[in-house]
Amino acid sequence: MEGYVFDIRHYSVHDGPGIRTAVFMKGCPLHCHWCHNPESQEMMPVEVVKSKSIGEKLIQMPEIIGKKMSPEQVVQEVLKSRVFFEESGGGVTFTGGEPLMQPDFLLDTIKLMKQYNVHVALDTCGYAQPAHYNEVISAVDLVLFDLKHTDSEWHRENTGVALEPVLRNLKSKAQAEKPIVIRVPLIPGFNMFEPVYSEMADILNELPGLQQIDLLPYHHIASHKYTRLGLENKMKGVKEPDKEEVDLAFDFFKAKGLKVTIGG
Ligand code: SF4
Repeated sequence: MEGYVFDIRHYSVHDGPGIRTAVFMKGCPLHCHWCHNPESQEMMPVEVVKSKSIGEKLIQMPEIIGKKMSPEQVVQEVLKSRVFFEESGGGVTFTGGEPLMQPDFLLDTIKLMKQYNVHVALDTCGYAQPAHYNEVISAVDLVLFDLKHTDSEWHRENTGVALEPVLRNLKSKAQAEKPIVIRVPLIPGFNMFEPVYSEMADILNELPGLQQIDLLPYHHIASHKYTRLGLENKMKGVKEPDKEEVDLAFDFFKAKGLKVTIGG
């Protein structure tokens, strides 16, 4: 069994506890307008043209994003950072894209990883078949779960999929038994409204395994990727949230009794 991976990054400190290795898997059922990894959305590898200036010359080179790997290959690459995991309380985080798009490959890789006693986190948008969701989260140590909105129509219009399957997995019995960190992307004009925060807080306060909520303010850092991939950037002209707006969200969730961080 092989799966599609587009990057493995060592020394990450924003994808769970300690120093982590992030395994970026290809394929995502969503198409969020603000996606920072649009190259992940298609399951198959994609070719892009990479430009580099050398002096006055602009060099253009083709680059393939994504490749097939076996669970053994992924685990061997991840284990290069094992000493850092042990010292920092870190581990591996499967992210993407949406790792649950490749449930069998993901599960095989997680099971192999656990043979080396490595802490495993899953970063997910929550949109997956319940059977896949339950089976995979039962095998991991921590779930990092993206909650983007509380209204199905807004969710569908801006991500391409309904919200109900996401909430069903979030509130599942299997999830109730697993530690979870909720990640909320703060997207101006989409979800940065007090009624949305309020509904989110009501949902989050019901989650038995909730450890904290990470607020992730939108930024334009990935704009160049849309140009490279020839995709429309629907966030063009949208301003990044300022400190005051982010603090407002932070204070709101804190006042609801939730442990909050900015940036994770
Ligand atoms: S769920 Fe994540 S990876 Fe998928 S489109 Fe949305 S932001 Fe991108």
